Amino acid sequence: MKAEIIFTGTELLLGQILNTNAQYLQQSLAALGIDLYFQVTAGDNLERLKEAISQAAKRADLVIIGGGLGPTEDDLSREALSGAIGVPLEENITARDITERFFKTRGIAMPTNNLRQAQAPVGSIILDNPVGTAPGLAMEKEAVLYVLVPGPPNEFREMVKNKVLPLLREKTGRSTVIKSRVLKLCGIGESRVDEMVGPLLQSSNPTLAPTAKFSEIHLRITSKAPDIEKADQMNSAMESKVSAILGDYIYGIDEETLPEAVGRLLETRNLTLALAEISSGGYLSHLVTSYPGCPGYFKFALVAGIEELEKLLGVRVDGPEGAARILAGAIRRKAGTDIGIALAGGGNSLCPPGSDLTIATAFKEKTLLKTIQLPGADALEFRRRAAQLCLVMLWHTLKKL
Ligand code: AMP
Ligand code: MG
Repeated sequence: MKAEIIFTGTELLLGQILNTNAQYLQQSLAALGIDLYFQVTAGDNLERLKEAISQAAKRADLVIIGGGLGPTEDDLSREALSGAIGVPLEENITARDITERFFKTRGIAMPTNNLRQAQAPVGSIILDNPVGTAPGLAMEKEAVLYVLVPGPPNEFREMVKNKVLPLLREKTGRSTVIKSRVLKLCGIGESRVDEMVGPLLQSSNPTLAPTAKFSEIHLRITSKAPDIEKADQMNSAMESKVSAILGDYIYGIDEETLPEAVGRLLETRNLTLALAEISSGGYLSHLVTSYPGCPGYFKFALVAGIEELEKLLGVRVDGPEGAARILAGAIRRKAGTDIGIALAGGGNSLCPPGSDLTIATAFKEKTLLKTIQLPGADALEFRRRAAQLCLVMLWHTLKKL
């Protein structure tokens, strides 16, 4: 089955909102083994939307339209589909019940313009929307299946997952599935990864593809197989081959984040942590505390300029490197933790960016120092990268313990 997706909404074309529905639907289609060759975004304009639908129907046998099912004049997906396939709209009782139910259950009178949402091309199958006012619909015409799904992301996901995918599974008989697994690496560069797993990158099923993200490398393994179980097996076999080569750098899989991986290591090693953040503005604390187990290992963080930290910790420091070293030890003693980390740079001021950053990690009586250059980063970028690099260092240190 060949699919084409059309997203509607002028706000998407103006860049006012990010198309967060796209990724979910793309991944869902891939998992069903449905090929997606084109994805189009059209504004709230009847003629252009009709044109997009007609064009899609020439090169796909599944056309999914996301958005434009609201009650207002600029919600045009129903009219556009009707016009493009030449099937008139009628009031659909099932659709009307869905829209009315939304208002009834909330005890609100339904505005008359919501009746627009009960319109559907004659012969449509209506898709229930338990979380919003807009019913979805599916309609088959001349061997092309058209599916309309409302735009608000919670409604979109709900309907894709519970109505559209079951429908597509039935249609395709699930003859092939495509399933991916992402191995997440840190502390190694993309070209080194490329060098080390070079021959595996040539594999055609599963495929192996690297992407660089901040200071991480993600290796995506993708298998095409008759069913999910088989695809999982193939992914596992490839994962074992990659792990044998790059295992020292793999911190997690799929949704796992580096802060979570670090949190888990601190938890299992039974270690505690305190932070002194000068140039990272609390960003590291924000990341380190994003794992639910953080109360068990995170004592506290001080976010302040150099003079304040000197007063609070009762030390005198000199230069960013010396500052990081002394502050890491001092915060560890003050907090009574196993590990103390200090991030200094940007001229030792609270407001980055400078270009240099020193990370000091005091662990028991030993202090590890790393100074790096982050030229040209704006304030937020500087903080993000500083915190991320610190997590990379911390993960590698903890893993060796
Ligand atoms: P619509 O049904 O197109 O009028 O969409 C209603 C609202 O859902 C829009 O104003 C957006 O806030 C949101 N929305 C629509 N399409 C998308 C999309 N592709 N990604 C994220 N949000 C969307
Ligand atoms: Mg819209």
